[in-house]
Amino acid sequence: MKIVKSFSEPIHITRPLLPDLNKITEKLREIWKAQWLTNNGPQHSFFESKIKETLKVPYVSLFNNGTIALIVACQSLRISGEVITTPFTFPATPHVLTWNGVKPIFCDIDPVTMNIDANKIEALITPQTTAILAVHVFGTPCEVFKIQEIADRYGLKVVYDAAHAFGVEIGNTGIGDFGDISMFSFHATKLFHTAEGGALTFKDKNLKQRIDLLKNFGIKNEDEVVMPGINGKMNEIQAAIGLVVLEEIEVERVKRKKINEKYIECLMEIEGIKFLNEKNIGIKESYQYFVIRIDEKKFGRSRDYVYDKFKEYNVFTRKYFYPLCSDYTCYKHLPSASSANLPVANKIVKEVLSLPFYGGLTLNDVEMICSILKSFRG
Ligand SMILES: *Cc1c(COP(=O)(O)O)cnc(C)c1O
Repeated sequence: MKIVKSFSEPIHITRPLLPDLNKITEKLREIWKAQWLTNNGPQHSFFESKIKETLKVPYVSLFNNGTIALIVACQSLRISGEVITTPFTFPATPHVLTWNGVKPIFCDIDPVTMNIDANKIEALITPQTTAILAVHVFGTPCEVFKIQEIADRYGLKVVYDAAHAFGVEIGNTGIGDFGDISMFSFHATKLFHTAEGGALTFKDKNLKQRIDLLKNFGIKNEDEVVMPGINGKMNEIQAAIGLVVLEEIEVERVKRKKINEKYIECLMEIEGIKFLNEKNIGIKESYQYFVIRIDEKKFGRSRDYVYDKFKEYNVFTRKYFYPLCSDYTCYKHLPSASSANLPVANKIVKEVLSLPFYGGLTLNDVEMICSILKSFRG
């Protein structure tokens, strides 16, 4: 038997894309020279136009982080009552609804894509429902056409949490072009980042003014404050980092594509390990995560066993998105949070594991990680 070695340095789930520091200081010099640190400065304007181009969307509004962006998205559409969403996501998704005084209604997920199951949305609609808040989990697009069709039939808004979907396209359409509003997160752990940051994308011209007001306290001019806004503004330093990181994003994607292929090649032969189907025709991938599912019966070990055991080899994986949002103390009392309502989500949440995935990982690292995993088989 081949001897499996552990890593001498810890291998983390991700590493932020850190561009050449000289390029950042060059930008900082421009900012210092302009003496303009925030509130729609030149870096912000230029970055906003670049993001619009990159994401192929008609309108963009930049934010200090993705969560505040999503809170503002719901405010701008005047979403109230109940919103149908997924339990298999980052805490921000349902919390944003709570911060809007809206009740999250959890819908089960699709067994393959792990996104909200569009076939199960309709049964959850009540007279109080005003919107669907779906997540493109791990960058896999939701069933955008089916969801829009349901929304149109019942007069609902559609908001997408596209935090994992930077650069994803369906056909030639940017993923941010679907639904009423999409939110992108530019947090350091995301493929594209501004250290902290985020954006909303949308098609309605009238929304641009409203959203820009909402993220700046509702200040219209020196004499008028026209709505109860919040401080959601992206500053010049964040925008500058974004501009520099944006220049390197395609190189990073190419590296991740190779790592992705290597993982698939190495994992293919391990019984009981599944991964997201990468053969989505016509879809441009995000390459933000590499996620596997462990079939305990076939693999002979549980996901939790693998997660713990990996640490002994200096490999740090993540159980994204465990626990389900429907199991948080603040939501588990909801009728829609019962596990009887969410059988697929409750099964999948025990199987998923995100493996280390970033451009700096070598193909040799990937082979080592896969050999370690293989050695765990029971
Ligand atoms: C990262 C993330 C967010 C939050 O974004 P921040 O920019 O960190 O506020 C929201 N939803 C999902 C699915 C995420 O992964």
